[in-house]
Amino acid sequence: MTTQELQLDTLQWITDSRQVGEHRTALSGQSVFFAIRGEHHDGHEFIGELYRKGIRYFVVERSALTSDRRTELLNYPEAQFIETDNSLHMVQALAAEHRRQFRIPVIGITGSNGKTIVKEWLAQLLSDDFEVAKSPKSYNSQLGVPLSVHQLNDSHTLGIFEAGISRSHEMQALEAIIRPTIGIFTNIGTAHDEGFRTYKQKIAEKLRLFIHAGTLIYCADYVDIDEEVNMLLRAVNAHMRFITWSMTGKEAVYQASVQQDRLTLIGPNGAITLTLPFTDPASVENLIHCLVTMLTLRTLDADSLQNRLNRLRPVSMRLELKEGINNCVLIDDSYNNDVAGLQLALSFFNQQSTRDGRVVILSDVLQSGQPESNLYEHVASLLQANNVRLFIGIGPKVSANRRFFADNSLFFETTDQFLTLFQVSSLRDSTILVKGARPFSFERIINRLQRKVHGTLLEINLDALTHNLNYYREKVGTEIKIMVMVKAFAYGSGSAEVAQLLQFHRVDYLAVAYADEGVSLRQHGIELPIMVMNPAPETFATLFEYKLEPELYSMRLLREWGSFMTSQPAQTEATSPVHLKIDTGMHRLGFLEHEVPSVVDYLTTCPMLRVATVFSHLVGADEALFNSFSQQQYDTFLRATTELESGLGYRPTRHLLNSAGIVRFPDYRLDMVRLGIGLYGVESSQIEKDAVRPVGTLHTVISQIKTVPAGESVGYSRRGVLDHEARIATLAIGYADGYDRRLGNGVGHVWVNGTRCPTVGSICMDMTMIDVTQASAAEGDDVIIFGDEIRITELAQQIGTIPYEILTGVSERVKRVFFKEGN
Ligand SMILES: *Cc1c(COP(=O)(O)O)cnc(C)c1O
Repeated sequence: MTTQELQLDTLQWITDSRQVGEHRTALSGQSVFFAIRGEHHDGHEFIGELYRKGIRYFVVERSALTSDRRTELLNYPEAQFIETDNSLHMVQALAAEHRRQFRIPVIGITGSNGKTIVKEWLAQLLSDDFEVAKSPKSYNSQLGVPLSVHQLNDSHTLGIFEAGISRSHEMQALEAIIRPTIGIFTNIGTAHDEGFRTYKQKIAEKLRLFIHAGTLIYCADYVDIDEEVNMLLRAVNAHMRFITWSMTGKEAVYQASVQQDRLTLIGPNGAITLTLPFTDPASVENLIHCLVTMLTLRTLDADSLQNRLNRLRPVSMRLELKEGINNCVLIDDSYNNDVAGLQLALSFFNQQSTRDGRVVILSDVLQSGQPESNLYEHVASLLQANNVRLFIGIGPKVSANRRFFADNSLFFETTDQFLTLFQVSSLRDSTILVKGARPFSFERIINRLQRKVHGTLLEINLDALTHNLNYYREKVGTEIKIMVMVKAFAYGSGSAEVAQLLQFHRVDYLAVAYADEGVSLRQHGIELPIMVMNPAPETFATLFEYKLEPELYSMRLLREWGSFMTSQPAQTEATSPVHLKIDTGMHRLGFLEHEVPSVVDYLTTCPMLRVATVFSHLVGADEALFNSFSQQQYDTFLRATTELESGLGYRPTRHLLNSAGIVRFPDYRLDMVRLGIGLYGVESSQIEKDAVRPVGTLHTVISQIKTVPAGESVGYSRRGVLDHEARIATLAIGYADGYDRRLGNGVGHVWVNGTRCPTVGSICMDMTMIDVTQASAAEGDDVIIFGDEIRITELAQQIGTIPYEILTGVSERVKRVFFKEGN
């Protein structure tokens, strides 16, 4: 390692430009940015931006340094550029070097499920004995692992890191970085995994994490893991200790048995019996892994183990966005209270909020492993770098270090004190991050700040949206652009929040139906180019003011826009991007092929209009029945665009496919595709229907339950006559919320605590009755109208419509709540 590289070890590592706030701070001078090229982005594009924000050290890839880029870099005279072949490999190598400086026990965790929970629980359970460094959330990737391990410092006495891989040959790099002394293999799923040839190969690859470990802990009931361990590890590492456990009587170091919430563990030092805080099978497995690991590290008696188990809290994987009082948005993150977690949560500000006021409410940071003054100085500079307007610190330690924070910051010794002394109603129009260690009970603060919603809400899973976006991106590859349709309130999912996520993930274009939808996006800080599909002449001035780009579909509209633009003052040099729609068979909007010469003629007289894109729409992209018609539309489209191009003398971006088309017609992808319903979780071609994840879950609650005798009727017009005595529950949702009236009288079902329950009688405007005789149900219980268990496609089929109608039918009076799973 060169001296230059060694020096990088002492700096703060940045790999995502979005982590860096607008203002330059002491921290920016002590940071190095690794420009990494991924499938969808290139870190080298952000060097200028980061330089302006005060970053001075950059690791760049030689092959990315074209002569243009080298010229660009000359504009940053104070920067130091460290050239390398591969920036990711450099991060990994530096992290591996960093790891080698520590001679402490390090636990490495891999497996299909439970990695994050076992890690979080172990950190909680071992906090009395160790200063723990751990991966934030599920930072377990090729990049996440080095960033996690780089946090190790001299005060730590234990490291706990997780490693996740998605294809073969990835574990080797992670092994060198984590170098676990103790390994935990949680379990192995049976799911088919594209990145691996076989199931056994997947196990073998994961086992590579442990080749240098002294101890390996796993459950011998996974016979395939047991076999591969015996074959691969026992052979290469004669000194390794294998600490196995079994619940089925297999040969193992610990025999475990569970009766209700009582666990008995029989091991080398006799038997102990403990009461478990969680009893579902996955939690039991995770808990046994934790207990066996604790007994491996320490001699602990049953009382002490029980004490610690009693303090254990469930691990919430979510970072939730909630609607707050006075038009505030709350980011509720009580999951991680370490500095790395704070950094992640702050980067969520940049992702979600375009509001001005950023407020952070933070408790003492427990177990940071750093001297207090370093810690709070670091926290303060993170806040400053992320434009936090108001900081509220709660707890004796953060209060004692108030000198590091901005002058307007407020400090309270306890949560109670904050709740009594601080006027929460003084917070308005802000995004508020609430983050506290568990003993501070910050849920009470959330409770006070949260706006109460009526029982019906549509939950939008932002991670599922991202997953779906990535699925389509991978399908079309990097050369083809993506326009995302966010018309109709983003198919009912909430336009501003969805668009903010899409902007964060840097899609190429957005499209809306009407000008006012575009204006609303601009007002929420969306800067992506936006196409408006129905640009009425009355809205031209608005389009122009908000830089919205019209779709032009007729000679009339083309001329009107042309003369409008020509009459704008000071437009001599700028051009106006427009989008031309060709009608190739839908016969809705669009120029017919024979009109192309007139379009060209007009555009040559009006060079200010520049055709950014030209497109058409397939009438039956999702059905094989229409394949030959689709082909005919494609051919017509190609002829029309070729004629247009030769007339114009330049080549606009061409696009034809919607979501189903992306899956079914790889050959027609042209320069761009238009993603719609697939993003929102419905794969309408039904060919790869499990590749996308449902995004929305519509919830409601039970307002009342009563027992109604057989022969009585339920609801309007006595339609729901009961043939049995039934428990009838009334739900707080009706057709005015978007629960279609055709789903009444037993056609539709809802999900109540694990049971499908039919509707009874007609659906009313604000209420629906269901039969919960077969379910365990109580007043106030949550009910799912659609989501994972009841799919939108199923509802659509039952009432003879399409998923689009169900999605966009959820009325705007239903609150949208957004959340991230956190991994
Ligand atoms: C809505 C729309 C789409 C998206 O269609 P999906 O089937 O939802 O993918 C694509 N193109 C145009 C012109 C649209 O209006």
